[in-house]
Parts: sequence; structure tokens; C-alpha cells
Amino acid sequence: MSETIFGRIASGEVPADIVFSDDELVAFRDLNPQAPHHILIIPRRRIETVLDLQDDDAALVGRMVIAAGKIARELGFAERGFRLVFNCGEDGGQEVYHLHLHLLGGRRMNWPPG
Ligand code: 5GP
Repeated sequence: MSETIFGRIASGEVPADIVFSDDELVAFRDLNPQAPHHILIIPRRRIETVLDLQDDDAALVGRMVIAAGKIARELGFAERGFRLVFNCGEDGGQEVYHLHLHLLGGRRMNWPPG
């Protein structure tokens, strides 16, 4: 399985504006932000899509969601609200096949999404 740009960001090979990292996760600002705060939270280990998650990955996904809330708090937009999105596959608009959680905040979000 060839690496994606996100794997290269996780390994430090490609620079990114990293806002959080630990032994399992890395979170960095999106290069093409769709909100004042647009952060991508990824596992260091490559999992292609939500459909590739196994039961054993439940804790990892939980940690991604919890990390998103902590980052929103630290960056000061948690109380006003924010949006979390996993795009999956072609119809879901997924472009990078390394699992990532979008954290969007700092403006009012629309619904339904485009
Ligand atoms: P997807 O459409 O796969 O859910 O989201 C991929 C996201 O990755 C897009 O919002 C895109 O702007 C972002 N992105 C793509 N390449 C890079 C990159 O090299 N660096 C960063 N920081 N973000 C990227």
C-alpha cells in the first residue's frame, strides 16, 4: 500500500502546521481551509477509509474524536460549536485515502452540506 501525503506529514517528511501530536495521532491545519479553523486529525498508522476500520480500531477512532474536542477547546472555538466530518469514498468527497477527521470551526456552518 503506497503512502499518501498524510503519511509523509505524519513521519515529518513533509511539513505541516501541526497543532497536536502523540504516539498514535497527528493533527494539522488543512492546506485549503474551509473555515477559520480547519484541522485534520489522522492516525499515524495508515487506514484508507472508514470502511477499513476494524473492531479493534474503536479506541483509536474514539481518541480521534476526543482529540478534536480538546483541540477546539485549546484553540478557543469549542464553546461556539464546530463540525466533525469523515469523508468516505468517491461520493463522500474523499481525496486523500488515509483516514482523517475534519475539524471545522470559527464560523457558522451550513446544513445540508454541499
Ligand atoms: P478529503 O477530501 O480527502 O476528505 O480531505 C482532504 C483534505 O486534505 C482537503 O481538505 C485538502 O485541502 C487537504 N490537503 C490535501 N493535501 C494537503 C497537504 O499536503 N497538506 C495539508 N495540510 N492539507 C492537505
